[in-house]
Amino acid sequence: MGKTKYISDVHKMKELDSNEKQIFSKVSEQFKFRTNSYYNALIDWTDPNDPLRRVVIPDADELINWGTLDASDEIRYQPVEGLEHKYPNTALLLCNEVCGAYCRFCFRKRLFKDENDEVKKDVSAGIAYIQKHKGIDNVLLTGGDPLMLSNRRIMDILDRLKTIQHVKVIRFGTKMLGFDPLKISENKVLLDYLSDYSLHKKVYFMLHFNHPREMTSEALHAIQAIQTCGVITVNQTPIIRGVNDNVETMTQLFSDLSFAGVLPYYVFSCRPTAGNFTYAVPVEEAYAIFIKARSRNSGLAKTARFVMSYTDGKIEVIAKTGNKIYFKKHNWANSSENEELLVFPSNSKAYWFDDYLPKTEVS
Ligand code: SF4
Repeated sequence: MGKTKYISDVHKMKELDSNEKQIFSKVSEQFKFRTNSYYNALIDWTDPNDPLRRVVIPDADELINWGTLDASDEIRYQPVEGLEHKYPNTALLLCNEVCGAYCRFCFRKRLFKDENDEVKKDVSAGIAYIQKHKGIDNVLLTGGDPLMLSNRRIMDILDRLKTIQHVKVIRFGTKMLGFDPLKISENKVLLDYLSDYSLHKKVYFMLHFNHPREMTSEALHAIQAIQTCGVITVNQTPIIRGVNDNVETMTQLFSDLSFAGVLPYYVFSCRPTAGNFTYAVPVEEAYAIFIKARSRNSGLAKTARFVMSYTDGKIEVIAKTGNKIYFKKHNWANSSENEELLVFPSNSKAYWFDDYLPKTEVS
């Protein structure tokens, strides 16, 4: 298999016709486009509604005016450049602004815009902050995809975190095992490094498979390679219109993940991010898909929770009965509120937690 080629100009996509190229290049002026030859080969180009095509190929409806670029107000939780600290024990290092491809439904698409500078190549300020805050016991490398960094930079960050006693867990938020698994399975230097590193601190890969067709033999091989290094693997995915918004797909995804030793961890409701209306599914519709898919699986797949990453913390949808919906503050910025139960009248049109809150009158 040849080296993966990255494509960030829609005009270079031989699979698209000239009309599509014209429309999509307008969309990509707003929200950056990037795919690659490995992922393109998984797409059924004869099907305009192919779910994997929808993951990376723009949709004209992204130009519908909806939501905001930073729907969870992440910027509010950045005490120093390149670091987010919302939950007491967890710090996020925003260490890369590139991914193996760009998911059209990404909630961090603002980071890919030229004018955004939230991501810092130099993580020194973030590391110093973590060093100072002894309550931080786990660090998530994210962005962007940390596995798109060079080995040298990954190892440099991990080496620096290794010296911080109170940090026990390092997480990688990554879709590389779906977007370009060979980049990982053939990276012997990184795999050897992780094998050794895992003897010192626990490493988790928070994988991002959206659809069972992404779990190719190459992806399974890469999962096995990192598991052999002692890395723990879990999966997170949103429920995305046209990608996985049906019970069969989610049931299969949960099963295939658990067969590969990847526990389904979070299933997200799409945030109201600018450009993403076409990918969003109303909360109660998505929850119904989630709960049916989960109920068809073994206990291993039942570890998944359906959550919204709200401004103030993670809200779990725990039940829907008759005309009521039940939420729990699962992981709140103010941890004293964790586990609080919230009950609202059901609202089948709600796309986000705000849609359940009483509207404030403007006088
Ligand atoms: S891999 Fe993650 S950060 Fe990158 S585009 Fe997809 S959702 Fe966004």
